[in-house]
Amino acid sequence: PVNRLPEMQEERLKLPILSEEQVIMEAVAEHPIVIVCGETGSGKTTQVPQFLYEAGYSSSDSIIGVTEPRRVAAVAMSQRVAQEMNLSQRVVSYQIRYEGNVTEETRIKFMTDGVLLKEIQKDFLLSRYKVVVLDEAHERSVYTDVLLGLLSRIVALRAKRHLPLKLLIMSATLRVEDFTQNQRLFPKPPPVIKVESRQFPVTVHFNKRTPLEDYAGECFRKVCKIHRMLPAGGILVFLTGQAEVHALCRRLRRAFPASRARAPEKDQEDSVEEMRKFKRSRARAKRARTATLPQINLDNYSVLPVGEGDEDREAEMDEEEEALGSDLDLDLGDEGPDGGEHPDASLPLHVLPLYSLLAPERQAQVFRPPPEGARLCVVATNVAETSLTIPGIKYVVDCGKVKRRFYDRVTGVSSFRVTWVSQASADQRAGRAGRTEPGHCYRWATWFPAPPSMSPCPREQQPRGHAALPVINFPFPTPPSTEALVAAEELLIALGALQAPQQARRMKQLEVSRLSCPITELGRTMATFPVAPRYAKMLALSRQHGCLPYAIAIVAAMTVRELFEELDRPAASEEELASLKGRRARVAQVKRAWAGQGASLKLGDLMVLLGAVGACEYAGCSPQFCEANGLRYKAMLEVRRLRGQLTTAVNAVCPEAGLFLDPKMQPPTESQVTALRQLVTAGLGDHVARRVQSEDLLDEKWRNAYRTPLLDDPVFVHPSSVLFRELPEFVVYQEIVETTKMYMKGVSAVEIQWIP
Ligand code: ADP
Ligand code: MG
Repeated sequence: PVNRLPEMQEERLKLPILSEEQVIMEAVAEHPIVIVCGETGSGKTTQVPQFLYEAGYSSSDSIIGVTEPRRVAAVAMSQRVAQEMNLSQRVVSYQIRYEGNVTEETRIKFMTDGVLLKEIQKDFLLSRYKVVVLDEAHERSVYTDVLLGLLSRIVALRAKRHLPLKLLIMSATLRVEDFTQNQRLFPKPPPVIKVESRQFPVTVHFNKRTPLEDYAGECFRKVCKIHRMLPAGGILVFLTGQAEVHALCRRLRRAFPASRARAPEKDQEDSVEEMRKFKRSRARAKRARTATLPQINLDNYSVLPVGEGDEDREAEMDEEEEALGSDLDLDLGDEGPDGGEHPDASLPLHVLPLYSLLAPERQAQVFRPPPEGARLCVVATNVAETSLTIPGIKYVVDCGKVKRRFYDRVTGVSSFRVTWVSQASADQRAGRAGRTEPGHCYRWATWFPAPPSMSPCPREQQPRGHAALPVINFPFPTPPSTEALVAAEELLIALGALQAPQQARRMKQLEVSRLSCPITELGRTMATFPVAPRYAKMLALSRQHGCLPYAIAIVAAMTVRELFEELDRPAASEEELASLKGRRARVAQVKRAWAGQGASLKLGDLMVLLGAVGACEYAGCSPQFCEANGLRYKAMLEVRRLRGQLTTAVNAVCPEAGLFLDPKMQPPTESQVTALRQLVTAGLGDHVARRVQSEDLLDEKWRNAYRTPLLDDPVFVHPSSVLFRELPEFVVYQEIVETTKMYMKGVSAVEIQWIP
């Protein structure tokens, strides 16, 4: 029995899904697989796990699992459900990649898709679960697809063993034919329960002018106008990234401070003028219409081989942005003429940021009512599109853009791009304004579809460490492209994880079935490590010369990425600039010290990573140590967890290695450094670059540049690299990131001998 607090119960009763409880639970009782769909905010994520719990679908040895495509949702929803049920987080818990609060008492477990995939690897029958809820199936990452395929098989296997597993698939879109009509996935179409949505009409207002550059500035002006002129109701702004979110929050807080003396008269005149302009522009907005139901483009995804990604692509992008800074962040400091920049005394505006990496306590703030008399304004990235529903939003301001990571599958170059959102996303965003009463959405008159030249973010869609997943005849809801599978196969063959078949036979086979080369011993070992194949290969080889602990530290650091905080960001003031310069000098010094001299310097940035991990552990991985040495504390904690995980994995494969996490790891000897350089080359061998020789220098743009086998354009050693001043003739790199130029990051020097 659940003892909910009366006010919680009252809140719940408002949700449309509550009236469907019986229908849903009857369907679940009668069918192994059930699909539930209903508009975002109808209560699927928070209520269905509670229905299951109350119907007895959990016990001390079998639990209810709920998967979310985003970490944010897994954490926030577990907290919310615990709170609604008046239970502790020991009972309603979450598990995301590196952290969680699952206990012996856990009955409902929220997790990311990637976490469940990993559990399937360990226990294919998922015997700990009585029900698995696959939430937000409309998101359709490759994780979701692989999970769906696997779960449909697991359900059948469990039925055979008379240990039935129930599968619930929940989706915010009504287009579920792809699931129901897929015979390979579901020989018998599962029942679909549609939850009546209580969506109020949303009027979409189009701005006549589409800002090509300063869309964030345009959003700022829009929020000011809404706040000054329109009736009460929360505002939700969609921007593309963390830095943009913060910049807009700052600017809005400056414009609408919490408390302040009355504004001078001139300001009032300005706002009268603004009101006039606003009314004119509204009159001009002819094309206003009501938002339609979301439609997801189900063809808009792709798979790619190298799985260095995370299970949550937004969190990963946020992480990278936090560390790298981004060329894409528009400068909001430039205060436009009609920006309403002068502090306004009219009404307090309660401005809150929301993005994947925001600390959970701060995320939770958006769900609380704003202070008395203030208007709530949440400035969010895409996480507010479907994962989280913020109460009380009446106005949506949509910048019309989304940040994606693009990955060139031929060259392996990844870059961030801000592209226009799809119609489906735009509609979904608009829909966030109509949850509690009719709402309004402001967006631009035109938007342009994203150019299809590069495929979006496949890296982070590829399940981590699933190189050896048998893909032949796999019941993908939509099969990935042959091209992608061939690329994956080629990498695995190149790394020695799959046997290279006879060329002729292979060509023939590829037409019939994909990924069909038998796995090698090396491949089997590699598959036990939860990291990308390249890194798995380094680990698999590193027992030699006692390199394992070092290889683990380096691989953990490379997998987490961006251990160092971003110091190249633009400064807002002279003071900040001076302090940034000071820190840059200090960090450069630290890096040089960690890189050492001679052989170890040749290991380059990877030696720096090793030094960082070693020194940080030695110092007890304290926030103070990280702060003093320019390291990101959160990243170092992740490295520590991953090191632990990899150590466990290695011990499982070869217990005789007797590996343990040594907090006082000694630096590698010179011969070990040499061995490490060979290991790195074994893993990154195809990421090789050669410096352009001065005699070949025909064009200035090639000065100090490197040539790679796959790219026509020059690539450069990133200025943050310890090899930036050395510029060795041959290097291997971890990745190429395109910002102003194409930069190699994670660079090591290698020696290549020409065989004439
Ligand atoms: P769905 O999964 O169908 O999109 P949810 O179950 O996530 O819907 O949300 C149902 C309702 O619960 C929403 O209207 C939202 O406002 C409310 N809600 C969700 N999380 C919280 C929270 N942490 N605090 C307050 N309200 C919340
Ligand atoms: Mg949901």
